[in-house]
Amino acid sequence: MQRGKVSRVRCPKKHCNIGVNNPNYGKHETEKTKLKISVANSGSQNGMWKGDKVGYFSIHDWARKRKPKPNLCENCDQQPPRDLANISGLYLRDINDYRWLCRKCHMRLDGRMKNLKQFKGVAN
Ligand SMILES: [Zn+2]
Repeated sequence: MQRGKVSRVRCPKKHCNIGVNNPNYGKHETEKTKLKISVANSGSQNGMWKGDKVGYFSIHDWARKRKPKPNLCENCDQQPPRDLANISGLYLRDINDYRWLCRKCHMRLDGRMKNLKQFKGVAN
């Protein structure tokens, strides 16, 4: 009998597992990993999303850099400005929400803001 002479295609490596060379081998795991990675990425993106929540000082620095100090208060045009005041009290990242004011005008504006807040507090 010629059994011994029948040649078989064999992987030259001893511990070669059947299917390793198949392009579909391990595909399932890969898909799962991909999903995990994408979930992790979107999660970290959400964590990074602090948007316009900038601290008081950094937003002021931001405004200062973009709004040159004029010679006179932007409110009364009589005194040299002293403070870069936030108009809405929301510290928006909008340069139109800031004005250079003299001490007097800024105090007045701040007082108005406080009254507004107090009023809101009572209303609530
Ligand atoms: Zn003024």
